[in-house]
Amino acid sequence: MRPLTIIGNWKMNGSLAANQQMLETLLTQGTQTLESRCHDLPIRVGLCVPYPYLPQAHHLLKNTKVALGAQDVSDHPNGAFTGDVSATMLQELGCAYVIVGHSERRQYHQENDTLVARKAKAALQAHMTPIICVGETEKEYEEGKTLVVVRRQLQAVIDLLQGQIASCIIAYEPVWAIGTGKVPTPAGAQEVHRELRLQLATFDAEAAAKVAILYGGSLKADNAKELLAMPDIDGGLVGGASLDAHEFLALCQAGI
Ligand code: PEP
Repeated sequence: MRPLTIIGNWKMNGSLAANQQMLETLLTQGTQTLESRCHDLPIRVGLCVPYPYLPQAHHLLKNTKVALGAQDVSDHPNGAFTGDVSATMLQELGCAYVIVGHSERRQYHQENDTLVARKAKAALQAHMTPIICVGETEKEYEEGKTLVVVRRQLQAVIDLLQGQIASCIIAYEPVWAIGTGKVPTPAGAQEVHRELRLQLATFDAEAAAKVAILYGGSLKADNAKELLAMPDIDGGLVGGASLDAHEFLALCQAGI
């Protein structure tokens, strides 16, 4: 059995004051939810915040049930890469997770499958869990290319990481569902998750049974229950709904 995993992605949002309020509310109002168990396993909750807020969030979240994460990482260990942030730096700032290959990075920063795989490897080398995003665009969805696209994206990671894939989290995020209010049907999302798990299984059956595959894209408290009840949907990667402590907690609750 895999633990229910809910990871928030604040994207480029927040302020020192708003973050403090959100995190304090989350921790004071969420004690019971955050300590819940699902399938007899403790739930895993994390928040991926913008780089400048990592020290603040680390300070507020340390020794709590909410893990810290970042939204991107360099594939290089150090050196002349102005503006980039290494995995070791993130690990030093308390990150347990880092998102790689988010569609906004793929779209606005031209990140390709190979680079995404290298970023995942860098995260693992620094003892963090990469959350590797895959997903098709609206055009690809309409052309019936969903499985071709997500399989290609996942295969690049399997090829580079090999056995280390067992230590990763995969997030299926249809690009057309991100921030749009549109969501696939639970059965439609389940089919993609199942195919991703089968692909993992052709490489390593044990890893496939262990790897959490999260759904992301307009996930909210009021649509989470049915999606999170699907057998191969192990949790959610949550954008907009992770900015509000009450909504985020309600969403976690919906999966329990
Ligand atoms: C995301 O940014 O990963 C995401 C899923 O966003 P939203 O929940 O806002 O669609």
